[in-house]
Amino acid sequence: MPVKSHPAFKPCPCGSKRSFHACCQPFLQGARAPTAEQLMRSRYTAYVLHDADYLLYSWHATTRPEALDFSDDTTVWESLKVHHTTHGQPEDREGTVHFTAKYKLHGQKHTMQENSRFLKVDGEWKYLDGELH
Ligand SMILES: [Zn+2]
Repeated sequence: MPVKSHPAFKPCPCGSKRSFHACCQPFLQGARAPTAEQLMRSRYTAYVLHDADYLLYSWHATTRPEALDFSDDTTVWESLKVHHTTHGQPEDREGTVHFTAKYKLHGQKHTMQENSRFLKVDGEWKYLDGELH
């Protein structure tokens, strides 16, 4: 369960301009993300909301950390922009999502640009790994 709550009818933290309940909330609650991009967006939202369970669940078993601890995390996620995707559609088995995430840590602005790889396992998209730029 997310540690932080987000109102269902407010814009989704992932920046899709849709409301949370029409965007990432169903995936955090167990619905299957149809595309790699949507899984990636829901994982960004899970970082915003400190939903460690969802992050671990949506991580590929071969690369998943044993645990995530947000108790001392003071990262303020500010925006997500998806630049480009390859494959990752409902009929695909793998895909990539190239994105930029902006955040603040200890008052400093940071930009993280990553090309993430996703694989489908038993019909569910999982985050495999990412290459930072
Ligand atoms: Zn969203």
